[in-house]
Amino acid sequence: MNYLTEIVYLIASVLFILGLKGLSHPESARRGMHFAEIGMLMAIVGTLVSGHIVTWTWIITGVAIGSAIGAAMAIFMPMTAMPQRIALSHAFGALAAVLVGVNEYIEKGIYHQELTTGLIGAIGFEVLFGALTVTGSLMAFGKLSELIKSAPITYKGQNFINIILFFTAFGMFVYLIFFPYNSVIFYTMIGLSFLIGIFIVLPIGGADMPVVISLMNSYAGLAIAATGFAIDNKVLIIAGSLDGASGFILSIIMSQAMNRSFTNVLFGAVGSSQVDVSALAEERPITRVGIEDTKFILEQADRVVIVPGYGMAVAQAQHTVRELSDELDKRGISVEFAIHPVAGRMPGHMNVLLAEANISYDQLLEMETINPTMDSVDVCIIIGANDVVNPAARTDKSSPIYGMPIIDVDKAKTVIVMKRSMAAGFAGIENPLFYSPNTKMLFGDAKKVLQELVAEFKK
Ligand code: NDP
Repeated sequence: MNYLTEIVYLIASVLFILGLKGLSHPESARRGMHFAEIGMLMAIVGTLVSGHIVTWTWIITGVAIGSAIGAAMAIFMPMTAMPQRIALSHAFGALAAVLVGVNEYIEKGIYHQELTTGLIGAIGFEVLFGALTVTGSLMAFGKLSELIKSAPITYKGQNFINIILFFTAFGMFVYLIFFPYNSVIFYTMIGLSFLIGIFIVLPIGGADMPVVISLMNSYAGLAIAATGFAIDNKVLIIAGSLDGASGFILSIIMSQAMNRSFTNVLFGAVGSSQVDVSALAEERPITRVGIEDTKFILEQADRVVIVPGYGMAVAQAQHTVRELSDELDKRGISVEFAIHPVAGRMPGHMNVLLAEANISYDQLLEMETINPTMDSVDVCIIIGANDVVNPAARTDKSSPIYGMPIIDVDKAKTVIVMKRSMAAGFAGIENPLFYSPNTKMLFGDAKKVLQELVAEFKK
């Protein structure tokens, strides 16, 4: 039976790796996801045939409750709430790791006094990272769903307190390696880790939240890998390591996308200055444009670039965007889509939506590819994007997003911004683009406005 389990685990691990590989391109992403799903099923089957089942009642109850929660989250949570959903999943995964760690400690430590240095090392690491991931991810969930203030919450001596907390918890971990049966220290370390999770996410907010999510992904993976060592389960070690490494790489990619160092994201408290944009909007003139004029402007263009953002996802306007693109195409106007790496609310959000609407991958251009050609663009249409096209990131040193690479839409000859109001984006800051002389504001819900525009073209 053991032999069979190992083979099943090996196949599951290969499927996880193929799954990750598939996710690196939109075309193969769906297939990759299926590989990973089958891998997960095999890992579960492998565990069930491994012969360590205590009682089927617990297994079936667990599967039923887990499936009910998972299915409800998948069905009822909208795509735009994906980061929150992912944050919750990380919290659940990490909580499982902590519970397994505590169980192992009680079983092998308190009952049987069998804790080797390697075992307490694995259990300690597992609960240390697991616990801080639980509360860190719940904080991220709270911030992203605006249950708590999403902007960074800072106070004096914050970094100092965080460092003291971390080193105290780490000191306890080292102590446990030498004196593993001191359960007071063990549980105090877990309590401190829960606190650390809250404190490390407090000062992060605004546009930096994507990095927090991928970092929590990485921590959850490390905790799971440690669980694998603690209970001698190879598939957990492999899956956890894949998760830990890919989450870490994603965090670095996201930091680079925002031109910010890792330490800066973790300790810099970005996005703290939430500006009262409504007050500013009243003072400065903007140029409005209607549907007919927009159609006229577009008809005169040779090259049009569409920049989608979070608002397109909220309005579910991707299919109507495609219809507009088809109408322009019929008239011989070139249409490209400029994709910012952190547009929307999850990595690859725009790629997923545009792929769903069957927009060809060849039309999707990365920020670095499109930016150098921006001054030859006749019309740039911004659909529900804000932070990712904010020129203050380039020009205003006092801006919280200063230094973040943006799509240089302001260099296009004409810019049309589609959004409902003058409200700010996720980072909560004003966007000078809206007041620029070559910008025209087309107010309304993205889907509705696009439907009217397409109807105008079809007339
Ligand atoms: P933003 O959040 O900056 O702006 C979205 C804009 O869409 C808003 O200004 C809003 O204005 C408009 N909008 C909302 N609903 C509609 C609608 N129905 N129709 C038309 N417009 C609408 O989005 P961006 O994509 O530009 O930037 C993403 C931001 O999210 C960045 O700050 C990024 O760091 C952050 N983030 C990204 C994550 C990721 O992984 N990609 C994860 C978490 C955060 P109005 O209300 O006036 O309509």
